[in-house]
Amino acid sequence: MNRRNFLGILPAIPSINHLEFAKPPGPMVISTWDFGKVANNQSWKVLSAGGSSLDAVEKGINIIEEDENNQTVGIGGLPDREGHVTLDACIMDHESNCGSVMGLENIVNVISVARKVMEKTPHVILVGDGALQFAVDQGFKKVNLLTPKSEKAWREWLKTSKYEPKMNIENQLYKKDPMPGGPDNHDTIGLIAMDAKGNISGGCSTSGMAYKMRGRVGDSPVIGAGLFVDNEVGAATSTGVGEEVIRCVGSHLVVELMRQGYTPEDACKEAVMRIVKKSPAKSKNIQVGFLALNRKGEYGAYALQKGFSYAVKTSNADIVIPGKYYYQ
Ligand code: ASP
Repeated sequence: MNRRNFLGILPAIPSINHLEFAKPPGPMVISTWDFGKVANNQSWKVLSAGGSSLDAVEKGINIIEEDENNQTVGIGGLPDREGHVTLDACIMDHESNCGSVMGLENIVNVISVARKVMEKTPHVILVGDGALQFAVDQGFKKVNLLTPKSEKAWREWLKTSKYEPKMNIENQLYKKDPMPGGPDNHDTIGLIAMDAKGNISGGCSTSGMAYKMRGRVGDSPVIGAGLFVDNEVGAATSTGVGEEVIRCVGSHLVVELMRQGYTPEDACKEAVMRIVKKSPAKSKNIQVGFLALNRKGEYGAYALQKGFSYAVKTSNADIVIPGKYYYQ
């Protein structure tokens, strides 16, 4: 008890000693959903060759962005209610550098554009037309992101035009081919990598909520909400209804809780509980999941609902794990 907390003014400043280690735990990568397995394997090519966690994050996410069958990320993503596929992504490295793009159209690898924002501009976020102009200047190719499959789904949706986030309760866990995700209409690839040096980077990429309002941006490209990395502590990422994640600055919250001694799973659970507390009625019918990794190489996740899964790859594991959840 020191004078400050004796007076009841401030809580004791938490120590981060519990997160110190003599030697990095070895490279590893974790990511959201079953399709994270595909991303992890791509990241692993970088990590196992001694590459950086930042390169691993970009390469892992790129492969999901390029998969036309995945209707929640990159090309093939479900459009907004006016038929535009608008993508959000962000990236953060072990030195707390970060970059983000929001509402970017006609570019497949938006995580790579976010990285360019981080590395080539004095800014953190570029949005919409400005982000597109920057991407084209950087040599990214413009393509039509609306695939016939997603256009068909959107035209079908137009008949009722009811905005309704769908949960991924019955996901495709344990299916042989983990692509292309479940029957829901929103997901994100959130991926966290640790390299051989113990440096942590993370990224997320999404087409956001299907049939969202034009201009809507969720948590995924918002540093602190959809992703946060602090190399002293660890990193966290989220998936699910972004509005709820932004309201509790979820990923930053998870990292700060780990700093105070929470395990990754307990930190994710506490963030989920904040959502339950703030939105008791709404939280029953939506999905949000958090995923975290600490410096020691411990990982964990927690979600509002059944159906959230995450993929883990280390030198001796390549697995998809069902996330624990609150509403039984
Ligand atoms: N978090 C994303 C968003 O709100 C969607 C998701 O991950 O399900 O845009």
